[in-house]
Amino acid sequence: MAEKYLGEDIKKLGFGLMRLPKIGEDEDIEQTCKMVDTFMKRGFTYFDTAYVYDGGKSEDALRQCVVERYPRDSFVCASKLPLWNAEKYEDLAPLAEESLSRAGLEYFDFYLLHALNADSAKKAEELNAWEFMKEWKASGKAKHIGFSFHDSAEALEDILKKHPEAEFVQLQINYKDWEDEGVQSRKCYEVARKYNKPIVVMEPVKGGSLTTMTQEVQDLFKAVHPELSIASWAIRFVASLPGIITVLSGMSNEEQMNDNTGYMEHFEPLTEEEQATIQKAVEIINAVPTIPCTACKYCVDGCPMQINIPGVFAAMNFLKVYGNKDGAKGRYDRAVKDGGKAGDCIHCGQCEEHCPQHISIIETLEEASALFD
Ligand code: SF4
Ligand code: SF4
Repeated sequence: MAEKYLGEDIKKLGFGLMRLPKIGEDEDIEQTCKMVDTFMKRGFTYFDTAYVYDGGKSEDALRQCVVERYPRDSFVCASKLPLWNAEKYEDLAPLAEESLSRAGLEYFDFYLLHALNADSAKKAEELNAWEFMKEWKASGKAKHIGFSFHDSAEALEDILKKHPEAEFVQLQINYKDWEDEGVQSRKCYEVARKYNKPIVVMEPVKGGSLTTMTQEVQDLFKAVHPELSIASWAIRFVASLPGIITVLSGMSNEEQMNDNTGYMEHFEPLTEEEQATIQKAVEIINAVPTIPCTACKYCVDGCPMQINIPGVFAAMNFLKVYGNKDGAKGRYDRAVKDGGKAGDCIHCGQCEEHCPQHISIIETLEEASALFD
């Protein structure tokens, strides 16, 4: 039996509905229904969507695949209110109503202010959004209110100090970013614990980065558990932390669903030996030599071919660290979509004069072109 948080008995895997399988532009409802059936059959109940996911189609899919096919007391649903779509207090209720209507629900079990950071937390104050959330809960349209969060531990503490009405927080936590100064997984986790807020974890596999690894890391994990996927280590790591309501996985096909629900059905926290294996994996990942680009962009302005040099280097570093060629190619394609490709470089040398890290940009772009163009 899982620990109960906020009176809810929820297993430690939640179905994130932001990357559902698709046919063309639309969600593949038939495949999603099969995934939902596997999820429910194995005792999982938590579904996470948001007003903005796929322009509302995610909430529609929730209705079609879950709400219209299962009794209301057999699942719990979370959705999120996008403050960036609101200019005044009166805009909030219609957005929240629209989410309920798309999902075919009378209430959300968990309702969140979406993606708060230091700036959007200020907007929440201006809009009086927390007052709205309290009223929404009092009206019975949300059972529990909270927020998802992407910023520093300090900004998180500011919000939690001001808003004790937030019952839970949704945080990005993964083993790679546990000590990362940008993401601050550990520090944010510790702030949430200090304020006694149970946590929903998002991005446990760092947007898919921790599902494929270099051969060395794969060998390390496979030596301990040959039968377990690489992704399982990332999800079990966060599920093992105290105070976790559930861990969201944005599953995109039946294979991922079968894998995740398989090892999480009878979840046990990581043993000391398994924790040590993860620490070793992090050491290996952190020791991979990468291009020392700080993304300062001093090189970009003068480039006659408008090459997004730091974006290209970030894709190359992703490949070096995670060994994930498809993921790196996706990052590269997004980086160069509005400008020149790595292979368009005319060797004028403007960029290298400006790079404070003294990176051999021309040579490195040639490598990138060979890999991705
Ligand atoms: S050397 Fe290549 S990347 Fe650098 S500024 Fe010139 S064209 Fe752009
Ligand atoms: S100037 Fe150098 S460090 Fe800065 S973004 Fe360009 S390549 Fe990276």
